[in-house]
Amino acid sequence: MRRSGFGLGKIFGINVRIDWSWLLIFALTSWNLASAAQALHPNWSDGLSWVLAIVGASLFFGSVLAHELAHSLIARAQGTQVDNITLFLFGGVSNIQEEPSSPQKEFVMAILGPVTSLIIGGVLITLVNLFAGPLGALAAPPQALVARLGPLSTLALWLGTVNIALGIFNLIPGFPLDGGRVVRSILWGLTDNLRQATQWASWLGQVIAWVMILAGIASAFGARVPLVGRGLVSGLWLAFIGWFLSNAATQSYRRVVIEDILDDVSISRMMRENPPTVPSNISLESFVHDYVMRTDDYGFPVVDGEELRGIITLDDVRAVPRQDWATKSVGEVMTPRERLITADPEECASEALDKLTRHDIRQLPVVQEGRLVGLVRRRDIVRWLRLHSELS
Ligand SMILES: [Zn+2]
Repeated sequence: MRRSGFGLGKIFGINVRIDWSWLLIFALTSWNLASAAQALHPNWSDGLSWVLAIVGASLFFGSVLAHELAHSLIARAQGTQVDNITLFLFGGVSNIQEEPSSPQKEFVMAILGPVTSLIIGGVLITLVNLFAGPLGALAAPPQALVARLGPLSTLALWLGTVNIALGIFNLIPGFPLDGGRVVRSILWGLTDNLRQATQWASWLGQVIAWVMILAGIASAFGARVPLVGRGLVSGLWLAFIGWFLSNAATQSYRRVVIEDILDDVSISRMMRENPPTVPSNISLESFVHDYVMRTDDYGFPVVDGEELRGIITLDDVRAVPRQDWATKSVGEVMTPRERLITADPEECASEALDKLTRHDIRQLPVVQEGRLVGLVRRRDIVRWLRLHSELS
């Protein structure tokens, strides 16, 4: 899955990306904070309220990043490859390749994110307590409490509360949230069966999501729900988060089912045998006119005689300026054999799908004893799965 957004740079060697949806959250958070500050501190200037709000939203961003970095750094310390961290609508996603290799590792990796958030939150609130006088219980009426705080303490109190909320939200035991991963790692440890554990954790996630949706709707219609209270906006918000969780749980469950099916099928059952191939010495011009335009294929294995030389895709051609198409050959532009990612006909289809996703490519040449025997495309696997589910 490729999300739209932009890169921000590297931290500890991990690429940090921001999804466009995050800009919306940033604007909403700033606006929300500014109006809250103006309401609670009428004596503050608009400028001060807005500066605080924007600094607050940036530090909130930093808090989510710290949470994700905790997951990623421990994953890397455990020897798992971490590609990037993407911050999006509901927080962050660490793109940690491959599933963790043991229940203990998954437990530690999952729990460290929320623990980091809770520690940051705890430290900030303790600091406010130390420097701005005792706050009393957090349950005290917030208006009266916040009204006597200065700008810096207000910011720290808000940020502390947000971090604690972030930690608690992520501990909700619905897979794929961190809390759900903790549950899964425990079930996995008990049953020694990752599939089964994922299935149960997803079901639990589904149940929790529906409780949130129903509680949210009830609260929106005026029922008093414990912890949530009553109100249209908070009720709808809760229902929305429940809906989001339910989707995530369904998706992760479906992924387990699909992996289960594809695990039992070899790639030779869904590959295309004798796919159209291209010789390496023709020009890009004739490649486009004689091959690409005549088929609905995107990539072609490059074969000279019997020997597989590489693969050429439409993207490779597009990278070459139009006026050079007549002079450049397929062999000069293709991905050469040594950098090619290939599959074995006996390989299971889930492994092939994993390669396609991980390297973000559309097709895999299937090679046996150095010879090209077929081509498997992403859509061949999707089509096979659809037929499989229609027929059974
Ligand atoms: Zn997390």
